[in-house]
Amino acid sequence: MARAANVLVDALVDGARSTAREGAIKGGVRDVLRRLRRVGLAMAALSVLPSCVGVFASPAGPSLSWGTHSHGALLGAVALPAEGDGYQVHPDWRARGRTFAIEELVGGLTRAFAQVEQAAPGSVAYVGDLSLRRGGDSSMHRSHESGRDVDIFYYAADREGDPLPHLPAMLRFADDGSVAAWSAGKTARSIREPLPDAHLDLRRTWALVANLLSDPGMEVQWIFIHKPIADLLLQEAEREKADPALLARAREILHQPTDARPHDDHMHVRVFCPTASRVFGCADKGPRRWLKKRWKYMGPAS
Ligand SMILES: [Zn+2]
Repeated sequence: MARAANVLVDALVDGARSTAREGAIKGGVRDVLRRLRRVGLAMAALSVLPSCVGVFASPAGPSLSWGTHSHGALLGAVALPAEGDGYQVHPDWRARGRTFAIEELVGGLTRAFAQVEQAAPGSVAYVGDLSLRRGGDSSMHRSHESGRDVDIFYYAADREGDPLPHLPAMLRFADDGSVAAWSAGKTARSIREPLPDAHLDLRRTWALVANLLSDPGMEVQWIFIHKPIADLLLQEAEREKADPALLARAREILHQPTDARPHDDHMHVRVFCPTASRVFGCADKGPRRWLKKRWKYMGPAS
């Protein structure tokens, strides 16, 4: 535990220095120093939290999200491997270097992708941007600053319901789930390939949402998604007779973004600050469902 504490303090100090050097966060140095003074107290608190065992037991070491999704930093980042069971980071997005997140999010994603692949063989989820290694910056996004955000393409299927073998970019979907256009995001590529004869793969996309929301190792705050696509997914969940508690939660969490493009070409997943990060200054914006959802809205934890 003492070694883990040292690693954590080193990471925090290192992050504070780099924050100061890069000037990534206005007023961030003063804030970080103020938080550093609380490290002793925080470590004492952590030592009695059972969750810290899980955090520090990871061979990847502790990672911390600091600040908010739009004004933050990432310490001890974990890279999402370029590919794994049921997913790959799309090469054009991988080249942008935004493949880092807190370990809780990386773990939750890899588990969810693998579960979808297991239930529906052949599934490949394409992943877009996560965060930079140290977070901050974000010329390409308003958020993705603190290792708690990830963009994931929607699954697409052909007429037989099979996954498409190759996707040169994201696909933009119309309100009925049909393919509308290529979307290269900010990769500045123009796609010349003809649009595939395909549609939004509701079965796999709902399966991914359900697995992300059910993961025991992370807490999803929002999945930003175009409202008509959210409606299609919720209808799919009803058709599949999804668990009512899960469905109720999905209705709250699938959310049309109010200050961004419609998200008809990808979903954007944001997780809440994990406990260890919260102690060190990770701040959630928006509803604090994490405080009450289990007890008030979610029924007993299972
Ligand atoms: Zn995003």
